Amino acid sequence: MATIDSPTGAKTQAVIDTFTRYVVPNYRRFPVCLVRGVGSKVWDAEGTEYLDLFPGWGCNLLGHCPEPVVRAVQEQVATLIHVPNTWYTEPQGEWARLLAERSFGGQAFFCNSGTEANEAAIKLVRLRSDGKKYKLVTFKGGFHGRTMGSVTATAQPKYHEGLGPMLAGFQYAPHGDLDAVERLIDDQTGGILVEPILGEGGVVPAPAGFLEGLRRICDERDLLLVFDEVQCGCGRTGKWFGYQHFGVTPDVITLAKSLCAGVAGGAMLTTVELAKHLRPGMHAATFGGNPLAAAAGIAAIRMIEDEGLLDHVERIAGVFRERLVELQGRCETIRDVRVMGMMIGVELAIDGAAVVQACLDRRLLVNATQGRVIRLLPAMTLSESEVHDGCDRLAEAIVEVAAKS
Ligand SMILES: *Cc1c(COP(=O)(O)O)cnc(C)c1O
Repeated sequence: MATIDSPTGAKTQAVIDTFTRYVVPNYRRFPVCLVRGVGSKVWDAEGTEYLDLFPGWGCNLLGHCPEPVVRAVQEQVATLIHVPNTWYTEPQGEWARLLAERSFGGQAFFCNSGTEANEAAIKLVRLRSDGKKYKLVTFKGGFHGRTMGSVTATAQPKYHEGLGPMLAGFQYAPHGDLDAVERLIDDQTGGILVEPILGEGGVVPAPAGFLEGLRRICDERDLLLVFDEVQCGCGRTGKWFGYQHFGVTPDVITLAKSLCAGVAGGAMLTTVELAKHLRPGMHAATFGGNPLAAAAGIAAIRMIEDEGLLDHVERIAGVFRERLVELQGRCETIRDVRVMGMMIGVELAIDGAAVVQACLDRRLLVNATQGRVIRLLPAMTLSESEVHDGCDRLAEAIVEVAAKS
């Protein structure tokens, strides 16, 4: 278990004791109990302040407790919390319209998480051919969630350990390898599922020509091209959706994480034509598109536009890039720096977990993925001085750990 450099306080220890007794131990947790957050700052139960460059594991795209979202949720929660999808509600329709207008103009199916959004996409692929073209090609290094369909779509064996038998019909190609994709496709293949920018895979944008190639293959073979934008979507990269950086339009996108700025919500977007295959009775989510999530989702989109945050992200990403490339120049531990808006990977030659710990010692919250990639998913509202503050602390942490390894 990781530690911080001061002894864990009594309040935090009491919470940890309750967890140890009553909460399923399926997560590795730091011994820190967070109680409050504003923007990119959070505080623990002892009142210690942290700079959070990984707010909400990518869910808190507008920082902690963004005011317009808080206000919208407060108003909605006192008006109508939840009604089932047997009725119409204003917020769900409005939310779907706003998403369509910022993507490819189709329709939305709402759910509550990323894995559910991907399950909806998997079902859509199968339903389109009445199950005849049930196979999906996905990619090594991708991540699609933890329910049985999505976890089978996730190629890494470590996510499958002890869970078999997995769902039938998934085939894995090396990321970026169009020839391998062509070889895997047969008459039973119905679609290709890919993240335009790998998230858990280490913040890796699709190589040049790759998504275009997948689009061409899908067009030639009549397959659905599904983009998992659960991590890279909703404005994080400085455009509404990751695919908009590549000039390739998918048939389906899946969204969650930041979709409702920290409130649980997920969505699958597809074209009006394809949406017809999800006939009444074929798929559902009881809480999907509930008024609370919809109010948060609408408020998030409006806030991004009202505050000009897509442009802000581009500027702030430039500052990150400058700082991190400068650091790379004087620190050979840094192998690569990848900045896609507020989706940032710093690939190291050393263990990332030790750097995350050294950052925590400096009251900076970051993440490590793929063992050696420090991942930042900062809030779009991050200020320039917070970028400098964060990069100062991160640089110290990397230099310290590198000196010891
Ligand atoms: C996090 C993530 C998921 C799973 O989302 P959940 O909400 O945890 O189910 C799926 N795809 C990608 C790309 C993700 O980053």
